[in-house]
Amino acid sequence: MPGLMNRMVPVRYITVHHDGMDPFYGNSRASAAERLEVIRRSHRNKGWGDIGYHFVIDRGGRVWEARHRYFQGAHVKDHNEGNLGVMAMGNFDLQMPTNAQLEGLGRHVKILMQMYNVPARNIRTHQEWAVTACPGRQLQRHMDVVRDNHMFG
Ligand SMILES: [Zn+2]
Repeated sequence: MPGLMNRMVPVRYITVHHDGMDPFYGNSRASAAERLEVIRRSHRNKGWGDIGYHFVIDRGGRVWEARHRYFQGAHVKDHNEGNLGVMAMGNFDLQMPTNAQLEGLGRHVKILMQMYNVPARNIRTHQEWAVTACPGRQLQRHMDVVRDNHMFG
């Protein structure tokens, strides 16, 4: 619903999330599509124009385009301007991300960094913006290690 979304302004940040729902172990394209649709519907039910995230990484490492980058996302309250939302499917307080998923996430974040000229210091997680458990302990730990090792530059 384009009328319910604002046009994206120049991208300065990339923010990493998990979906935070029940643990999810599906690896197939079909199971990921099904979960994505549950999330999209729940976001539409909040009155949003589309799912809140711009990209989703499934357990198999596939990258799904979610809300189009032409539009501002709805993934960090009061901080959606110029902020791309990348979500990894699962609940990383209750399960581990797969290696394929972490690789897919890292690869895609790097592509977006190059595409939009986003510096490594502007790669954040949801809980670095606001009080939330997102992206879960396991993915937060991974993001800390990746950034401490300058894997995003
Ligand atoms: Zn989040």
